Amino acid sequence: MNLENKSVLELLDLLKAKKISAVELTKYYIDRIKKFNYKNAVLEIFDDALLQAEKCDLIINTKKILPKLIGIPVLIKDNILYKGKISSSGSKMLENYVAEYNSTVVQKLLDEGAIILGRTNMDEFAMGGSCENSAYGPCKNAYDDTKVSGGSSGGSAVAVALDMCAFSLGSDTGGSVRQPASFNGIVGLKPTYGRISRYGLCAFASSLDTVGIFTKDVKDNAFLLSILAGDDKLDGTSKKAKVDSYIDYLSDNINGKKIAIIKEVQELVKKTKYYNIYQKVLNYCQNHGAILTEVSIKNYTKVLPVYYTIAPAEGSSNMGRFDGVKYTSNVKDCKNISEIYSKTRSKFLGKEVKRRIMLGNFVLSSEQYSSYYLKAKNISIMLKKEFEKIFMQNDIVFMPTTYGEAFDIGSKTQDPVSMYIEDMFTVTANIVGIPAISIPIGVGENGLPLGLQVLSAELNEKELYCMANFVFLHRGEI
Ligand code: GLN
Repeated sequence: MNLENKSVLELLDLLKAKKISAVELTKYYIDRIKKFNYKNAVLEIFDDALLQAEKCDLIINTKKILPKLIGIPVLIKDNILYKGKISSSGSKMLENYVAEYNSTVVQKLLDEGAIILGRTNMDEFAMGGSCENSAYGPCKNAYDDTKVSGGSSGGSAVAVALDMCAFSLGSDTGGSVRQPASFNGIVGLKPTYGRISRYGLCAFASSLDTVGIFTKDVKDNAFLLSILAGDDKLDGTSKKAKVDSYIDYLSDNINGKKIAIIKEVQELVKKTKYYNIYQKVLNYCQNHGAILTEVSIKNYTKVLPVYYTIAPAEGSSNMGRFDGVKYTSNVKDCKNISEIYSKTRSKFLGKEVKRRIMLGNFVLSSEQYSSYYLKAKNISIMLKKEFEKIFMQNDIVFMPTTYGEAFDIGSKTQDPVSMYIEDMFTVTANIVGIPAISIPIGVGENGLPLGLQVLSAELNEKELYCMANFVFLHRGEI
């Protein structure tokens, strides 16, 4: 049977009807990983994957009521803890770190019978937007070896795009699921902050971090969020809100849906080659009954300085735990504790992580705190209010995911600011805490994928999936 690019829901039907076995499916993905891993998307295939698959087959053959993800192979980003497995966060600092407990998402996957195949490449500690900051080498774009995969969850995105797994998990602090999803032509969700538990996700910027889902289509994504979302007593920031069966709300009708377009975003997009395709999507939705309104957020371009103040500030304090005592103690001949700290951090952390630690310590220092961190926090509160107002009148906000197609490997590594500017459209959802999904809508002039972002109000993933599904299904006609 040709298994290529089958969705999770299609595979579940085949598994339950015993047309394929979990072992066959797992072997198929392991072969795909071996064939395509010159891209450097997968850091490790777990040696018990086939054993997990055998157990699933036994359950399928003996039980009447089956767990929701029985026999589905999934890859997880290298910063999501899976007990007994290495979780290195793309860093030399944690090269040999073995997780001592399961993250809540991994526990949910296991409880529902999913097979955890392995872990994927990422920018070190999720700090980056191209996967070039991985201590294990960059991950290449699924479509072009000379282009970046995007990041930080580049490995998870490329793995889904090249069918190395049925779906994958990533993390999104400022765009790390949506941007690589866009660059590799797949669907990537960043849920509402607190919608999916962060317990067992290695922290980058705790007030912005989310676990995200990469899939081949919107329907799978909606199905998976219903399984992975929910309050968790192990995560004090998780939301107590009701979790819906999101696939039940998908429809092919957007008549009367209110879509807001942000004027300041339009002005930025106008200067890019992306504008035409974006405009076509807007027209198409309008022709199918959606009501478009232009709104204005005067402070929109402040999102970048706000993000690049808050994220390094929180990131630098989260990095404090990597002191050479608790996680790695490989440096020798140290005269005192300070020398252990400095030698370990100098040796095992990469350039970008060090840059963020410096930046974070600076904005949090007593002299600078009110000029930077406090100011950024205040602007983020203002932005939240602006979005609340927008969602009182509108169901959805549309925005590009990126300025354009995936860029050349190496083209931005010497110029961090040019790399940061790439995040202009993705950081907003994290600062505001709202859900956002990137869906493929076509290709740019280099023939590489482009993504559209659909944003909705906090906890309103239902609305977001509905609109995203419509555009996704009709993308061929646009
Ligand atoms: N590119 C952004 C950064 O470098 C976002 C990263 C992320 O979402 N983890 O911080």
